[in-house]
Amino acid sequence: MNDLQLDDFKTTDENAAMVLLVDDQAMIGEAVRRGLSTEDNIDFHFCADPHQAIAQAIRIKPTVILQDLVMPGLDGLSLVREYRNHPATKDIPIIVLSTKEDPLIKSAAFAAGANDYLVKLPDNIELVARIRYHSRSYMTLLQRDAAYRALRVSQQQLLDTNLVLQRLMNSDGLTGLSNRRHFDEYLELEWRRSLRDQSQLSLLMIDVDYFKDFNDSFGHLEGDEALRKVATAIREASARPSDLPARYGGEEFALVLPNTTPGGARLVAEKLRQTVAALKIPHISPAEGSSLTISIGLSTMVPQPGSDCRQLISAADKGLYLAKNNGRNQVGIE
Ligand code: GH3
Ligand code: MG
Ligand code: MG
Repeated sequence: MNDLQLDDFKTTDENAAMVLLVDDQAMIGEAVRRGLSTEDNIDFHFCADPHQAIAQAIRIKPTVILQDLVMPGLDGLSLVREYRNHPATKDIPIIVLSTKEDPLIKSAAFAAGANDYLVKLPDNIELVARIRYHSRSYMTLLQRDAAYRALRVSQQQLLDTNLVLQRLMNSDGLTGLSNRRHFDEYLELEWRRSLRDQSQLSLLMIDVDYFKDFNDSFGHLEGDEALRKVATAIREASARPSDLPARYGGEEFALVLPNTTPGGARLVAEKLRQTVAALKIPHISPAEGSSLTISIGLSTMVPQPGSDCRQLISAADKGLYLAKNNGRNQVGIE
């Protein structure tokens, strides 16, 4: 039943019923078979051995079970409980067939999980009406469950797609780092958090040295490849989950370091500068035989009420300017 999909029901006739009668007396089986034989859309199966009932029910998937209560070797009520405990049969409507109208037996049958109670042999019109009623409500239940399952699947797909979209929207196409839009959002968020906590927020502004020359001598594709390598180094320099490496624009990158002291940020920056230099990406500037390097501007602030995170960017920018002016390939702090 768990394998059924919504599509399985579109072609299924809602009025069709599959009846399984479990009764040790072949005579009862014959009588019910005859009674149902003139009915359209009712399939009839008879099981005379109660020990085979569960297995047969699982195999033929009845929409209604007619269950005798008194059988040699196995109590019908135990069987009703077994149907209810088995995942494949737990929701199949069960009409118990009793030999007499007895309130005690009746209440025991309903307590065990039966849906209906008939004294055998019931009048054929009543039997057919109850079979059709229970069968239809069971089909409706299956359809509803399948629809819910399909809905859950598509909801999950939607969530997955949204997650992918969100990631795409936030990331830079060339390097896979956060893009400028996400950087702006994140810095603003961390600025406000640091204001609340009165904690230190550090920012590195990173700029590739003589990159125009690099493009001019090796071409833009090589340039892009170099930017990807620098981006990887920056990603690896961000150790904490709250650190955010981003492409700020062109050959400029940024690294947001929440809860980080000036000393800690300086350590991260210096290590990053060395990592990029150690890549030994050949360059012709500042001199033939040079390697590609980066300059880094650093700033740390504890945000004050009424302040703006642009102050932090501006201070880190000034540090970067100093680093460039002092000869590049270094960390500058205003
Ligand atoms: P400085 O050391 O002062 O930073 O000099 P610079 O040449 O790196 O600085 P400038 O701002 O003059 O040049 C930056 C260059 O970066 C210009 C542009 O060709 C290159 N650039 C910007 N974005 C990309 C990109 O996405 N791919 C490539 N290949 N190059 C880029
Ligand atoms: Mg630049
Ligand atoms: Mg540059």
